[in-house]
Amino acid sequence: MKNKLKLLYQLQEIDNQLDHLEELRGDLPLNVQALVTQINNIQRTITEKEEEQESSIVKRNKNEEEIERLIENQKKFKAQLYSVRNNKEYDALTKEIDHSDDLVKKHHAENDAMADLSKKLSFEIDEITPQLDELKKELKEKEEDLDRIIKSNEKEEAKYLTERSKIEPQIRKGDYAAYLRIRKAKKGLAVATVVRSACSGCHKIIPSQKQIEIRKKDKIYYCEYCGRILVSSDFGDNNE
Ligand SMILES: [Zn+2]
Repeated sequence: MKNKLKLLYQLQEIDNQLDHLEELRGDLPLNVQALVTQINNIQRTITEKEEEQESSIVKRNKNEEEIERLIENQKKFKAQLYSVRNNKEYDALTKEIDHSDDLVKKHHAENDAMADLSKKLSFEIDEITPQLDELKKELKEKEEDLDRIIKSNEKEEAKYLTERSKIEPQIRKGDYAAYLRIRKAKKGLAVATVVRSACSGCHKIIPSQKQIEIRKKDKIYYCEYCGRILVSSDFGDNNE
């Protein structure tokens, strides 16, 4: 049992160190994440606008071809006007000519509107792009800062993680689950010690009878106030 409690105590010590390394990163990981999201959103907006422009160009080219074809047909109809034999034929031809005139006008109007749209999209893209460049620059700086911090603590972190991976499998699954659960609920501190008769987690005084029992190290005790695992503080002494 004594060993079991000691393992929990050591696990908490290692996690305290790892938490400290994590704290050194400050808001940087969150900032980086937020910037990446912002950049992706702007990038998506730009891509959508570019795609809209491209499809409008395709449509405009198609309209241009259609206009050419209509004008060619019109030429043929106009030539045929000279050889009509009666009013009925003449009316049919002029009707065709008028109809293609209308279509040509319609396609021209459509193309004008799409040219305006394309111009508007270009303007909008130009407006957002500097913002995107600015955010990318900011992201690069933040990533470099974060990288520098991570790199400078890499060895230390690896050392703690190795120690942790040796201790963790020796702890009973149920105890480990409880440890993680309390740690999550209690801002990282799951294993508290008795310091000057009080729980080091919540600073409430522990009854002296319970303190004696805790020092015996024959059972897992929980702080009745904060619910943390309470162990004897002499685990911290190297002679233990
Ligand atoms: Zn407590």
